[in-house]
Amino acid sequence: MISSRKRNLEEVNTEETKKLREDAVIQQKKFHGLKNQGATCYLNSIMQVFFMTPEIHDRLDPESQKIDQELRNIFERLKKGACGTEKITKTLEIHNVSQQRDAADCLDLILCKVSPRVSELFEGQLTYTTKCSKGHVINEETNPFWTLPLSLRDNPDEIYSMEGGFEKIFQTKSYSGDNMVYCGECEKKTEATSKCEMVKFPHILILLLKRFGFDYYTMSDFKSNCCVAVPSEMTTNGKKYKVYGIVNHMGSLRGGHYTATVLFREDHTWYDCDDCNVTKAEEQLFAKTKTYNSRSAYLVMYRASEREPEELKEQQRTRRRVGEKDEPKKRRVHEYIKKSGEKNIHDDALQPGKSSEIKRNTFLITGFLALIVILAMILTALSRN
Ligand SMILES: [Zn+2]
Repeated sequence: MISSRKRNLEEVNTEETKKLREDAVIQQKKFHGLKNQGATCYLNSIMQVFFMTPEIHDRLDPESQKIDQELRNIFERLKKGACGTEKITKTLEIHNVSQQRDAADCLDLILCKVSPRVSELFEGQLTYTTKCSKGHVINEETNPFWTLPLSLRDNPDEIYSMEGGFEKIFQTKSYSGDNMVYCGECEKKTEATSKCEMVKFPHILILLLKRFGFDYYTMSDFKSNCCVAVPSEMTTNGKKYKVYGIVNHMGSLRGGHYTATVLFREDHTWYDCDDCNVTKAEEQLFAKTKTYNSRSAYLVMYRASEREPEELKEQQRTRRRVGEKDEPKKRRVHEYIKKSGEKNIHDDALQPGKSSEIKRNTFLITGFLALIVILAMILTALSRN
C-alpha cells in the first residue's frame, strides 16, 4: 500500500520534472529576434519592449489606418520566429536604414503614428505653477508628455541617482534677487516659487536619461557614459511604478548599438534582446539589490503598479455592493421595530431562520400555558365532586 503510493508520488514527480524541463525548452525558444536592416537596432530595441508590453497588444486597432496593423503583424510573427521590420520602416518613412538614429526619436515617431488608444498608455501631464510671494498665480500651464528627460549633467556623484533626478522634477524652485519674476497683480518684480506636479499619471512611464547633448562650452555634441543607478520602483504623489524595460545604448556618439533588456511578466525573467538574438539575461536585474547600475541604460520603462488603485477601487466596489444588499434589509428591520414598538429586537432577529425559531418558541409557550389551564380546570372539577 505504502510502496504503491510512494511509486505514484515518484511517477507524479517525474512527470512534473519532465513538464518543467519541457517548459524550460519552450521558454528558451519563446522569444525571437528582429533582423537588423543596416543600422535599425534603435527600432528593434523599441519593438522588443513593445512586444513585451501586453497592454499595447490589447489596444491595437486592426481597422485603423495607423501603423497598428503593422505592429500587430510583427507581434504575431515574433511569436513564431525571427522576423524583419521592412514594413514598419516603410510606414515610419525611414528610407535610409543604414543611418544611425536615436531610439528616443524613433519611440516618438511610433507613438505619433499609432492609434490614440495605444499612445495614451504613455501619456502623462505635468502642471507647472509659478506663484509670487503673496500667492498670486503668475503662470500656470499643463503640458502632456510621453517621456520625461533626466539631465545627467551637473551630477556631483560618481553614480547618478535616477530616483534623485526624478524627484528633482517635482522640487519647488525659488526665484529671488536677480531672478525675481514680474507679478501682474503686484505690478512689480517679486520673489516667486515654481513647482511641477504630475496631474495625469501615464500607465507606462518612460524616463529618458539624456546621454546625448550639446556642450556650449566646447560647442560640440557629447555622449555621456556615466553610471546610472536605475531603481526597480519609482513613486510620485503616492503612485507607484515598477521597472520592466530598458533600452541600452553602447558605444560613442557617432557609432553605437542599441539593445533592450526586458522583463517578461509571466516568468518574472529578464531577457536581453540584441537584434536577432534574444537570450535570458545572464545577470538577472534587481535579483539581489533594489537598484541596477548601468553605463548604457538610455530609456527606462516603468509600469504603474496596478495593485493599489485597482485593488482600492475593487475594495470600494465590493464594499458598496455589500452595502447595497444590506441596506434594504436593515431598513425593513428598522421599520419593523418602529411598527411593533419592540425596542429590544436586535437586527439579527430578522435574519433567515431566526423568525421561525421565535415562532417555534411562542408555539411551545402557548401549548404549555394551555396545558396548565386544562390541568387547573380538571383539578377544580375534581375538588367540586
Ligand atoms: Zn503678486
